[in-house]
Amino acid sequence: MDIFEQIREHEQVVFCNDEVTGLRAIIAIHSTRLGPALGGCRMFPYRTVDDALEDVLRLSKGMTYKCAAADVDFGGGKAVIIGDPQTDKSPELFRAFGQFVESLNGRFYTGTDMGTSPEDFIHALKETNCIVGADEVYGGSGDSSVPTAQGVIYGLQATNHAVWGTEDLSGKSYAIQGLGKVGLKVADRLLEEGCDLFVADINENAIAKLILKAKSLGTALKVIKSDEIYAADADVFVPCAMGGIVNDQTIEVMKVKAVVGSANNQLLELHHGQMLQEKGILYAPDYIVNAGGLIQVADELYTPNKERVLRKTKAIYNSLLNIYKHSTETGITTVEAANHFCEQRIEARTRRNSFFSHMKRPKWAVRT
Ligand code: NAD
Repeated sequence: MDIFEQIREHEQVVFCNDEVTGLRAIIAIHSTRLGPALGGCRMFPYRTVDDALEDVLRLSKGMTYKCAAADVDFGGGKAVIIGDPQTDKSPELFRAFGQFVESLNGRFYTGTDMGTSPEDFIHALKETNCIVGADEVYGGSGDSSVPTAQGVIYGLQATNHAVWGTEDLSGKSYAIQGLGKVGLKVADRLLEEGCDLFVADINENAIAKLILKAKSLGTALKVIKSDEIYAADADVFVPCAMGGIVNDQTIEVMKVKAVVGSANNQLLELHHGQMLQEKGILYAPDYIVNAGGLIQVADELYTPNKERVLRKTKAIYNSLLNIYKHSTETGITTVEAANHFCEQRIEARTRRNSFFSHMKRPKWAVRT
């Protein structure tokens, strides 16, 4: 296939090859129309280079929409390192990766994603300061799951408002899949609100902590198997584990009125958004709901302030209400409405940015 045809929607794609460290990576910059590209770096033993390229192109485009939705001054980018995160990591490999990021001279900011951890980027930080999401002791903003979980709570409140006319979390039951960094925090908050929960996690340790908390609060907590969570007799399904969980099989058994969670790429295919709508289930687009972490790393350009990040995360509530309204008025799905909302914002903001184009380098592109 013609490579330029394959990358026609992207501004720049960089193939990074370092024989000394064995680094083979691809950095894709989808768009810098709203600001420097921002997106995590994934490490995965891709079967072929084509698979890696396809993944990085898809993910970087998704970041353009996610940044526009979160209203941060960044564009969409992503990086992939081809390799096994269990066996192929070394400090030198991440330093080499950092050098490639630095060579882009502030056009691309990156950090952890699937297969990479904040520790890996301590090495990259020696070569570039275009790294976000580092641990607090290294000057980063640390664990991003706190604002992400708070964003899920705002998403639930907005969705409850749209479905039941009240943003109250209490009086409803929730089926949570995945009690990791995000899911556990969401579950904690819902228990504190006195909500009934169904929970599922393949890791029993994660569940044990929650059972103790539910007992101390006297709230109902039912532990079920992960593949039974889709049919749980709950009001809202809260996916906080893996993607692709909204599909032909799961939609068929769902009894909930809404799906709101942090998991990335929840819809297996775009048409599953349509299927949910036809079944009367309101879907909160994942990239709107789970933007809290992105809002935190984008905010690292200022002096860190957790309260400010949580305040900015509150915008998720109104964004969702606007999307639901647009979807109801036009009949399009909530995902289509979200994409539409982002495309409009990109257009409007691009015009504003070009108005200021006489400025040599916008403030947010300069880090010292
Ligand atoms: P995590 O790895 O801390 O937790 C995931 C949890 O899901 C784990 O407890 C794991 O045991 C469980 N799990 C895995 N497979 C499961 C299955 N089949 N059934 C039930 N449970 C299963 O991850 P996290 O940081 O809490 O993120 C959760 C989701 O949210 C992921 O999809 C992630 O990509 C997305 N997300 C996270 C953030 C963030 O700031 N952490 C931001 C945006 C999106």
